[in-house]
Amino acid sequence: MVVIGGISHYQSTNIVDLVNALTESGRIVVASGLNLDVHGQPYNHLPELMARANQVILAKAVCSYGNCHDLEANRSISINDQFRAHCSTHYYRNVFGTDTEAGTLTLYVGPMFADKSTDWKTKIEKLQKAGFSPLVVKLDQDKRYGSETEICLHTDERHPAVNISTIREIEDLLRKDPKIKDICIDEGQFFQGIYEYTQELLSRGYNVDITGLPLTFNLSPFGEIPSLMCLADRIILNTAICVSCGHPASYSQRLKPIQGTIMPAPHGDVDFLPGGAESYQARCFDCLELPGRPENKYKLDRLVL
Ligand SMILES: [Zn+2]
Ligand SMILES: [Zn+2]
Repeated sequence: MVVIGGISHYQSTNIVDLVNALTESGRIVVASGLNLDVHGQPYNHLPELMARANQVILAKAVCSYGNCHDLEANRSISINDQFRAHCSTHYYRNVFGTDTEAGTLTLYVGPMFADKSTDWKTKIEKLQKAGFSPLVVKLDQDKRYGSETEICLHTDERHPAVNISTIREIEDLLRKDPKIKDICIDEGQFFQGIYEYTQELLSRGYNVDITGLPLTFNLSPFGEIPSLMCLADRIILNTAICVSCGHPASYSQRLKPIQGTIMPAPHGDVDFLPGGAESYQARCFDCLELPGRPENKYKLDRLVL
């Protein structure tokens, strides 16, 4: 086991390669790090490291603003070069000058087939039971903006979902219905600018619930989901079950026909290729196949006990 304190202070990408080499050789890495800098941006390489984590523990501090004492402080501001923990409300009050209570961000992440949307739909159902009507949005590049579909909830009920093609289209929907307080976004990895916009929504008091894949099929950070992991107040990190060995699976294996045979897609394949069970499988790292993956410069021999 390797324990690394203050991992987000390392500025070189070497830290990501090193942690990957350690974990891929069968070693356990336990690391602590700051999620955000004082400007509210993800701290150095923490997003890539969180995207590969098997477990994420969000530690909170006590808000040091005035008499607040909030126990969920997960933002920092700098006073005389000293970091001070602030709750979201007092952080945004200080940085954005807002005067509302900040909203909360919940992320539902994991590989394909990890039932991420199950917990997300449960949250939508709970909001409905409490008499609220959350705004549910999904990416649909084919359909015209504003067209509606429905998501099926577990209770056999349906809830309208609005197809949008860019994240800022949410702004028009909020203007149309000022009573909305909760925004639920499916497949957040596909929306460019979602990090900045989510932070803006939180500062204005909206609660945001986002599902997403932290990693592409070839283990690269997927869109802005890893950065959102640094911003989140709560992360629900699910695993799937590896189709090859039955162990917990954190990766999405892409398959594609190569010369008439279904094969693992090469590492350099296109980034975005939508598909379901015909093109993807959940796999653990040992069973993941990525032909052509460049060798890690820190590659270590497999640990044998
Ligand atoms: Zn506070
Ligand atoms: Zn496996």
